[in-house]
Amino acid sequence: MYNAEAYKAVLAKYEARRIRRERELEENRKKAITSVPQIETIDAELASLASAAVLKAMSSETEKAKKKAIKEFKERSVELQAQKIELLVTGGFSTDFLDEKFQCKKCQDKGFIGTKMCDCFRKELNRECYGRTKLASIIDDCTFKSFDLSFYDDEPIAEYGRSAKENMKRVYDYCREYAASFTTASPNLLLTGQPGLGKTFLSSAIAREVIDRGFYVLYESCQNILTRMENAKFKNLNDDFSDLLSCELLIIDDLGAEFKTQFSESCIYNIINSRIISKLPTVISTNLTPDEISESYHERIGSRILGEYTTVMFLGTDVRLQKLARASKKKKNKEKTER
Ligand SMILES: [Zn+2]
Repeated sequence: MYNAEAYKAVLAKYEARRIRRERELEENRKKAITSVPQIETIDAELASLASAAVLKAMSSETEKAKKKAIKEFKERSVELQAQKIELLVTGGFSTDFLDEKFQCKKCQDKGFIGTKMCDCFRKELNRECYGRTKLASIIDDCTFKSFDLSFYDDEPIAEYGRSAKENMKRVYDYCREYAASFTTASPNLLLTGQPGLGKTFLSSAIAREVIDRGFYVLYESCQNILTRMENAKFKNLNDDFSDLLSCELLIIDDLGAEFKTQFSESCIYNIINSRIISKLPTVISTNLTPDEISESYHERIGSRILGEYTTVMFLGTDVRLQKLARASKKKKNKEKTER
């Protein structure tokens, strides 16, 4: 289920695109005719040729005559098109100057192929839905390209047999591959680790990439999801959370930071469980370790997450604090050189 407002907005976008394309084509035609007037004569002949060919084919008495008429029509129109291109080139225009330029060749910017929604339309729709969620601005800075591994330590961590940097490289590659090959059959992920290790960053990067690949993605903090469910229940809002239950990828940020009540637990369970039953992937990021999840939530939540999710462990020292330290060091150095 897509948001109806978003759907309308995207339809309007396609309509605006069509109008703009036709206007551009008309302007180009005027330019071409002004500098090479013969083009208009050729266009006129092309237009009359088609109707003449239909008449001729219809009035042909034999099948052979009919075929001949059609063949002649095709040959003549190819000839005229070639002449037109030649004229365009002599006039200093590109050969495709009078062609309609579609952003999507598959549907010719109609958004639909027959009654089937084209991928380009789906992509726009996902962007539009995403644009309507609050995290759109965060996502803009968080991409796989802008991820910085230099904040992670080289020192091996005895407990894991690898350094935070090696670990992060694996995590990064895994998340990148997850996004690049995402389908609704992809696994559920549990991104776990201390605060400030890039869980929100990489989950945003996943969201962005999967949206760009045309999937319907929702990204929301656990607390926001719960607030929305609370409002629906206690303020009697007409909200059935169908988007949370039916989007192709749901990313729940910061599980464990929410205010816990019996109500919040049952909401979290319902979302996680419904999505497992519908076989739709969910990515959860959390500062809790798998053990802490078992301890802090009802067993049915713990067992769902630990049994049905692939754990991705983040290791290292808080990147946000390091970034701040680097920035203040830079500032101090700058002050020194200025003195
Ligand atoms: Zn298309």
